[in-house]
Amino acid sequence: MQTLTAKAKVVNLCDRDALLLGLLGFAATKLWNGANHHRRSVWNETGKIPGFAEQCRELKANRWYKLLPSQSSQEILGEQDDSYRSWFSHRKNGNKNAHPPGFRKKDSLSTVTFKQNAFEMLPGNRVKLKLPKTYARQEILLEYQLPPDVTLGKVQQVKLVYEPKTGDWYLHITHKVMIKYSEIGNIMSLDLGIVNIIAGLITDGFSFIVPGGELLALDRYFQKEKAKCTKSTSRKCVRLNAKWGRQRSHYLHVLTKWLVNLAIAHDVSTILVGELKGIRAGKDWGDVGNQKLHAWPFSKIISLLTYKAALAGIRVIKVSEKSTSTTCPVCSRRTKKARVYRGLFVHCGLALNADLVGAYNILQRYLREAGLTLPDRPGVVGALARPAVNLFVWRKTTPEGREQGTFKQAA
Ligand SMILES: [Zn+2]
Repeated sequence: MQTLTAKAKVVNLCDRDALLLGLLGFAATKLWNGANHHRRSVWNETGKIPGFAEQCRELKANRWYKLLPSQSSQEILGEQDDSYRSWFSHRKNGNKNAHPPGFRKKDSLSTVTFKQNAFEMLPGNRVKLKLPKTYARQEILLEYQLPPDVTLGKVQQVKLVYEPKTGDWYLHITHKVMIKYSEIGNIMSLDLGIVNIIAGLITDGFSFIVPGGELLALDRYFQKEKAKCTKSTSRKCVRLNAKWGRQRSHYLHVLTKWLVNLAIAHDVSTILVGELKGIRAGKDWGDVGNQKLHAWPFSKIISLLTYKAALAGIRVIKVSEKSTSTTCPVCSRRTKKARVYRGLFVHCGLALNADLVGAYNILQRYLREAGLTLPDRPGVVGALARPAVNLFVWRKTTPEGREQGTFKQAA
């Protein structure tokens, strides 16, 4: 079982319901601020900050507490308690910049959580939220739209979240999904690198690479633009950083989604990735020697891939990549001399893509440790010479317009 959160937009909201949602969000803000005021005054008077249980008792009669389902009100007090504890532990650790949780803006609409008995999922993408007795209506029925690739499992709680930028309401739906891993199928082995962000090999004899140039170009562009800023705290610089992060994250999502789709198309049940142990000193840097390795998103790729693959019933397994780049796939000898040309592994009269040799050796190590052998070894070794090259194409070509893109196989 895996717990996931789906973000669904509330749609077809009528004015009457919008007003009610606004009231719930407003009540949540009022309760937060009232509870915070209570904490601080008790703290001033007695020198002791009241805890969660004491607040639940004290604020039960509070008007705003009663305008939310009781579990929702308790959740807000619980969140505040967590914030106080977190601040307290920061302070204890000597962090002098840590501030106690503050008050929320009066006109902000806070998140309202609906737990077990306070909601009911209905067919046709609808949810029934139950309201406390204070209201004339006992419930509110909302219609929502899930993201295209999401199917809900067993729903555990629903959070009602307001997005002030667009004025839309969202439901953050926490649900549990049963994952059934498939036991039989092909194996995909991945070598992560810089010149090629991915070099992959599938046991059906298909091999592919994804050059890292697009991501490098993105990083270079934003580093150059940021260098033009006078201060790192300037508005322009902060905006550039946000945009850089957005575009990088989009690239990584598309990359990992594309990998999972490729795995599905090739009937893959297991994906192997080389386990990274710190900085790989021997890695071929190409002409980007100045790039800092820590900035390269290896672990982000692995975590996104693991999550997306699991939803497709595919396991991701880490395999040690020690000496996987120096072992010849043909004669199995370790040879540092083999990497004669950049990007090419030349030995036994063959010139193979060096990163694919890495992927091949990761696969061999996994098979050896599992006591298995590769059914079609010559076919798979042959694939190391002719990978399909996949390029990331941004939908808009200027760096400023790089918000969306897809992978295309190069001709
Ligand atoms: Zn050899």
